[in-house]
Amino acid sequence: MAHIKRFLECLAGDAAFKGALSENIDNPRSVTARYGIEVDPMEMLPLWHSNYLKFYRKPECASWPLAVTWREYMDEMVRHRDILRDQGNMSVTYPRFHAWRERQIRRCDDVLGDSAQSITHPVIAFELSEGCTGGCWFCGLSAGRFKGYYEYSKEHADLWRGVVGVAREMFGSAANTGFCYCATDPMDNPDYDRFLFDYYQIVGTLPQTTTAMPFKNLALTKRVLELFERYRCVTNRFSVLNTAQLNQIHAAFSPEDLMGVELVLQGKGTPKAFAGRARARKEKFGAVKNGDPTVESESDHTTIACVSGFLVNMPRRRVQLVTPVPASGRWPLGYRIVDERFFGTPDEFRDEVQSMIDEHMHESPPPNRPIRFRGDLQYEAMRHHFLLRSCHFEYQVPDNAASSVGDLIAAGHCTASELVAQIVTDGASAISVADELDQLHMGGLLEEDLDERFAWRNGEGTT
Ligand code: SF4
Repeated sequence: MAHIKRFLECLAGDAAFKGALSENIDNPRSVTARYGIEVDPMEMLPLWHSNYLKFYRKPECASWPLAVTWREYMDEMVRHRDILRDQGNMSVTYPRFHAWRERQIRRCDDVLGDSAQSITHPVIAFELSEGCTGGCWFCGLSAGRFKGYYEYSKEHADLWRGVVGVAREMFGSAANTGFCYCATDPMDNPDYDRFLFDYYQIVGTLPQTTTAMPFKNLALTKRVLELFERYRCVTNRFSVLNTAQLNQIHAAFSPEDLMGVELVLQGKGTPKAFAGRARARKEKFGAVKNGDPTVESESDHTTIACVSGFLVNMPRRRVQLVTPVPASGRWPLGYRIVDERFFGTPDEFRDEVQSMIDEHMHESPPPNRPIRFRGDLQYEAMRHHFLLRSCHFEYQVPDNAASSVGDLIAAGHCTASELVAQIVTDGASAISVADELDQLHMGGLLEEDLDERFAWRNGEGTT
């Protein structure tokens, strides 16, 4: 398996390998042997040969056992991704947070298109540095200039262990979804593996690691891979910027070493998502339409954000409530900051998180805030129902009251309590109207992005 994986990495990221394969189409083993790849390409033709690609998902694929093996592995990875999403389930441990996260998942499925499927909505993530030394042009989070890392001192370790303990206590096994980087690179923190190991000891799962700098501190990278060998976790990732770096990685790590590391090939000029710096660059060269902040990129991939929950920056002792959105002028980093707080101790961390949950994770639409449909939805009134259309779905909602609930929400002039009062005055039952509003709320169809406080922010690099 490790050698099939290496073959496919070379095929995707090394033009010379691909060229050599084309020139030796009848004897591809001569090429793989030169690259130290110990599988026979003839046993996996549907993975690489243009005449055979059509058989990949067909019964005929059985003639090429290695292609079948790889296909099964990839299918398993997709199933595993879905399991990760389920791992954030807090329906028992924290029903209110669970319902909020479910709403964000539904909204993302609506507004992010196919790319939404790959978002697992972890409930917590940590940054162990301030800024990043990477400076990658494609950085979807516009990571700011590096200002230092969070050292594993006694004081820091105590706070860290305390905060992770609070996360475990509050979110239960959903804390297993946590990871320890965001607009930072793990390799900028030489103590990264010590924080990782603490997390494993407290939560019971080793967080996944992604780095664009596997050679910055090779000893640290190897320690992280050793932790993976020992405790296992979600597949780690190296971002690969060019063929030279791919070759360097292949020279330093055997195919077996990299079995637990996905190599993410950042093709020249084609970032994984048009968010952050990649979006700013695209905008500069005129591809983002003026005045349309939510226009989708050709790839339909407009965010690399994944957390629907808490983003914690340890050096700044800051915790933010965040959720993915399509990158836009309002939210250029591809996630919405719902609220943010600062803490000095694990108890303060617990209090601030609790307070944000109380303030933002409502079971029903808040009575005194404006009520309107989500900005991306098109409203259309029908005879006994109304339609809400998003880019990808159409919702049909029964609406039988004398004054239409749909019309009032679409007009956007009243709060939830004013709306209920008006409908009841016109003869409808308060309970049925409240129930209808709850259904719309739970379905994620009402606008929650009403707070202007954080929208001006354009990433740590520019705040
Ligand atoms: S992509 Fe990763 S390594 Fe590159 S600047 Fe952004 S956070 Fe840093």
